Amino acid sequence: MKILIAEDEPFNIMVLEEMIKILYPQAVIDKAEDGKIAYEILQKNKYDIFLCDINMPNMDGYELIKKIKNELKLSLPCIAVTAFAVQGDKEKILLAGFDDYISKPVDIEQLKTILNKYCADLEEKSDENIQ
Ligand SMILES: [Mg+2]
Repeated sequence: MKILIAEDEPFNIMVLEEMIKILYPQAVIDKAEDGKIAYEILQKNKYDIFLCDINMPNMDGYELIKKIKNELKLSLPCIAVTAFAVQGDKEKILLAGFDDYISKPVDIEQLKTILNKYCADLEEKSDENIQ
């Protein structure tokens, strides 16, 4: 499983990374510290899932998701990771083009549910390879 995380707070990246390593020790994780860097990385690399903060410098999550869909035309699952997951923002996040969202502080069970939902096939395949 190859995962890209876009997040400007080093502590939040660290927490997400640690949780993913617990859930999927084999996962490959790349990180971008703002939306602009994430956009550049997504232009050149393929991922199975993208975890994206909303409030970021240079390019925020809303602008980034628009570019991912309209310019890069990528179909990878894009999950918003956001501190303000109140009702109105959830709708705004989904309307903007995100497939789903996780609220901060991130709960490991919620993260597991999301990763299993969008990357289940991949995990089954890697299990087969191990056997
Ligand atoms: Mg942020």
